[in-house]
Amino acid sequence: MGLVHSGGCLCGEIKFDIREAPLSAVLCHCRGCQLAHASPCAPLALIPPGGVSIVKGRPNRHDMIADSGSATFREFCGNCGTHLFSGGVAFPEFRAVKIVALDDPSAISPVAHVWTKRRISWASLDGGLLLALYPIMVYFLYYDAFSI
Ligand SMILES: [Zn+2]
Ligand SMILES: [Zn+2]
Repeated sequence: MGLVHSGGCLCGEIKFDIREAPLSAVLCHCRGCQLAHASPCAPLALIPPGGVSIVKGRPNRHDMIADSGSATFREFCGNCGTHLFSGGVAFPEFRAVKIVALDDPSAISPVAHVWTKRRISWASLDGGLLLALYPIMVYFLYYDAFSI
């Protein structure tokens, strides 16, 4: 399979490629994403782990227990702080790639809001998108939603 998407951090120290189609894409409102990104929610593309390759640099890693209660990790540039990837033992089917870090952030559109019980009151929800509690629900619902 050829190159599908490329991306990287703010300072350019880390570059990555995505070589598989997303299983799904969501706007995550969990508290971890809010704090990690200093943003009301994080646009995430759910990519099979083997479909993501780091082609330049090496991200720093932060491990923690997420809102879901399971162990999760976040990977980011240690130089500029841009968050690039996250994932967890509860969801081995995918690695979450930060859509905004793609060279073309318009290339993958979120199809659902997840973890909306953590939504900040002033953060608006796009009424055209599905609402789901967990990313894995969207994974099952939208398994065939993306084609390349
Ligand atoms: Zn950087
Ligand atoms: Zn999240």
